[in-house]
Amino acid sequence: MKRTLVLKVSPVRPKIEVIRVAARIIQNGGLVAFPTETVYGLGVDALNPKAVKAMFKAKKRPPDNPPIIHVADKNDVYMLAKKVPKEAEKLMEAFWPGPLTVILERSKLVPDVTVAGLSTVAIRMPRHKVALALIRESKTPIAAPSANLAGRPSPTTAEHVLKDLNGRIDMVLDGGPTRIGVESTVIDLTVKPPQILRPGGTTYEKLVKVLKKVELHPVAVADKKVKILWARSPGVKHRHYAPRAKLILVEGQRKEKVVEKIQELADKFMREGKKTGVLATDETAGGYRADVVKSLGSRRNLRTVAKRLFLCLREFDEDKVEVILAEGVPLKGLGLAVMNRLRKASGYTIVKADED
Ligand code: AMP
Ligand code: MG
Repeated sequence: MKRTLVLKVSPVRPKIEVIRVAARIIQNGGLVAFPTETVYGLGVDALNPKAVKAMFKAKKRPPDNPPIIHVADKNDVYMLAKKVPKEAEKLMEAFWPGPLTVILERSKLVPDVTVAGLSTVAIRMPRHKVALALIRESKTPIAAPSANLAGRPSPTTAEHVLKDLNGRIDMVLDGGPTRIGVESTVIDLTVKPPQILRPGGTTYEKLVKVLKKVELHPVAVADKKVKILWARSPGVKHRHYAPRAKLILVEGQRKEKVVEKIQELADKFMREGKKTGVLATDETAGGYRADVVKSLGSRRNLRTVAKRLFLCLREFDEDKVEVILAEGVPLKGLGLAVMNRLRKASGYTIVKADED
């Protein structure tokens, strides 16, 4: 156990003295959790193999799942990647800083452990003053996966980070809750056409406008467990985002059918004496009978839904709920990222409400 230093920092005007404390830790090979616009990241010097190894250990992350390297200057991309295709330049111009991670061929500068032995590297520039200031002051690219224990819901507040990692990391920069709440979109530019490996904060609809042709990797949109022999994005094959409770996702075109199915399941679990939670939306939350009902927000405002998703999953754990019945949301805009997280969190335990 080490002592984890927690310092508050303004997300709009971060004090340079606070950032410098964190940057010194990064430069000395230490581990600093910091806010980005998506979720909190657990940062280490991306070019220091020892520091990267310590990060994997602190998170209990499988060593085959590489982190994203965060930069504050586009020039760093040319240092970290062997080649930077035209599409990458277009995307960086359109979406950086922002929640988009590009996969490129790696350069020799990047240590093996940082990319888990892959021939490619994941890079993004976060849209958050604290993150950008930290990278600049550290004078090195920062490798940062989400700052949670592997498998748990990603952290959207400093409290979530501490819940998982207090005593395991050197410092948390507490910049308040994150704005987007789901992780970045990961797009592979080493294949043609470019392929979305993970839906996230930059929507498919926006990417299509800039690139014309973009594919969604089948795993990114799967509603069943897909057998993966060799994963281009190793993260996809690990269990993810999971609360302690068993989560069952109920999907369907018609909201009424979904509500009916969830209530039927809730009644069954409560009869069995299980503490049962429902993850609903504003339009439906009032109608459920269950031990705990939480709303993600309005179905018409998927931004709020994305922002609240991981928070709600963690709150169910605090409430010691044993079963969570979650409503599916529309598969458009940020809804694609939300559904990808919910499906994974359920371990693909999905009930289709329209099919009976
Ligand atoms: P996290 O850092 O927890 O948000 O997860 C990072 C995601 O980026 C994981 O799903 C990784 O598998 C993915 N990733 C990182 N590096 C690569 C890479 N070189 N190729 C494909 N996916 C990657
Ligand atoms: Mg993660």
